[in-house]
Order: sequence, then C-alpha cells, then structure tokens
Amino acid sequence: MASRPDCLFCKLVAEGDHVHKAEGFVAIEDINPKAPVHLLVLPERHVDTFRDVGQFPAEEAKRMLDFVADAAREAELEDYQVVVNVGPGAGQTVFHLHWHVLGGGRPFE
Ligand code: AMP
Ligand code: ZN
Repeated sequence: MASRPDCLFCKLVAEGDHVHKAEGFVAIEDINPKAPVHLLVLPERHVDTFRDVGQFPAEEAKRMLDFVADAAREAELEDYQVVVNVGPGAGQTVFHLHWHVLGGGRPFE
C-alpha cells in the first residue's frame, strides 16, 4: 500500500532517524520514551491498525515479527515488552501500525 502524505509515521519511515532497518521495516526511538529503551517498529506498508494486520502477506507478517525481535536484540535487550495499542480506546494516537518495544529496566508502565 502506498505511503500516505498526511501520515506522520509514513514520513518517519521515509525520512526518520532509524536505529534499525530491513526491507519493509524500520525501528525508531520513541520521542516520549516510557522506558530506558523505547523503540517503535514501523512497517513501510501503511496499515491503520493491528486490526488490519491481515493486509500483510503472510511472508511479510512473519518478517515483521522477526524484525521486532531483531530490533530488540540489536538494542541489547534480553527481557522486554512488545505492545501494540489498537484503537483510541486502547491508547492508539498514531494510525499507522506500530509495535512498541520497551525495556532496559522497570518501570515499563
Ligand atoms: P500510540 O499511542 O500507541 O499510537 O503510540 C504513538 C507513539 O508515537 C507514542 O509513544 C509517541 O510518543 C510516539 N511519537 C509521536 N510522535 C513521534 C515522533 N515524531 N517521533 C517518534 N515517536 C513519536
Ligand atoms: Zn502511514
């Protein structure tokens, strides 16, 4: 799916400061970290929420999960949380699917 010109995370995929990168995915540092290490994994493909994860071809969905684990490993996290907020009622504020990777010590929140 094409990137959306009005989408903050599509912009950050294209222009952001990536701490980890692979085909189809980037990881960036959260601007308002809730843990000592707080990464956001962004797929290049614009999908509004995790609810629509079925829009990813199976092979790409598998690579997305591998990328989340790789980004955590690269950040030298052993124990960490992976969080996806789905919908405004659950705290989602940016409507481009993203995975929070939180670690480096408690509290994670
Ligand atoms: P969520 O509330 O699950 O939609 O998560 C959105 C996350 O994006 C929040 O943790 C924000 O701190 C983070 N965020 C918002 N703007 C930026 C930005 N320009 N760069 C990096 N992270 C951002
Ligand atoms: Zn987007």
